[in-house]
Amino acid sequence: MPYRVDVATSTDPGLLRSRNEDAVQADAPGGFAVVADGMGGHPAGDVASRLAVGRVADALTRGSASNLDAGLGDRMAEAVRLADGDVRREGRADPDRAGMGTTLTALVVDPSSGRFVIGHVGDSRAYRWRQGSLELLTRDQTWVQAEVEAGRLTSEQARRHPWSSVLSQALGLETAAVPSLVEGEVRAGDLYLLCSDGLTAMLTDDDIVAVLEADTGEGQGLEATADALVARANDAGGVDNITVALLAVTPSD
Ligand code: CA
Repeated sequence: MPYRVDVATSTDPGLLRSRNEDAVQADAPGGFAVVADGMGGHPAGDVASRLAVGRVADALTRGSASNLDAGLGDRMAEAVRLADGDVRREGRADPDRAGMGTTLTALVVDPSSGRFVIGHVGDSRAYRWRQGSLELLTRDQTWVQAEVEAGRLTSEQARRHPWSSVLSQALGLETAAVPSLVEGEVRAGDLYLLCSDGLTAMLTDDDIVAVLEADTGEGQGLEATADALVARANDAGGVDNITVALLAVTPSD
């Protein structure tokens, strides 16, 4: 079944930070969305996140000559690899930007086959809202997530832990990042949510579901839903930059 993809994005510095170090881009014809979160405590995080998002968007839009024939997963891995290299090079070239890094979570859908792939580094997340249930599709690459999996912290303790944003991997650092790739099939009616941790630090999955249900029920547009998620995170404290990208899948006719 051929599909149609609609997208919306929303980003906000939140209530406590003067700069927005998140970056986001989404493209309906290209069937993709990308979210990046410049690393807190590192210089030039906003530069890193914008650089990474731009590079991934460019690579997914055009495909390089070398990967036009490659599968969706290979294209995504190549896009993330290029972004990682760009951020690392820029960090080395400019002393003011040394050590900058960023998370990256990108989703691309092939509208003709219905295949999708997520490329993921760091702790920005991808969720799927399907038939009234919300499923986390990515695994946070963080110290606290490893502690949760080892049974030493609960998810709720991890969410509130002072080290919750300590990443085990990011783009632009000395060691080349190895993205997690998640592949699958979309279904008509699916809604994919990509977000920075400024959303999930403020909102539980149940909070997110409440916003999605309210907005779906009222038949608002995707943009309104994206804005409503950001507003809800600000209502809950807005301690970090908040970024959301939504990608909705419907039958093409
Ligand atoms: Ca953040």
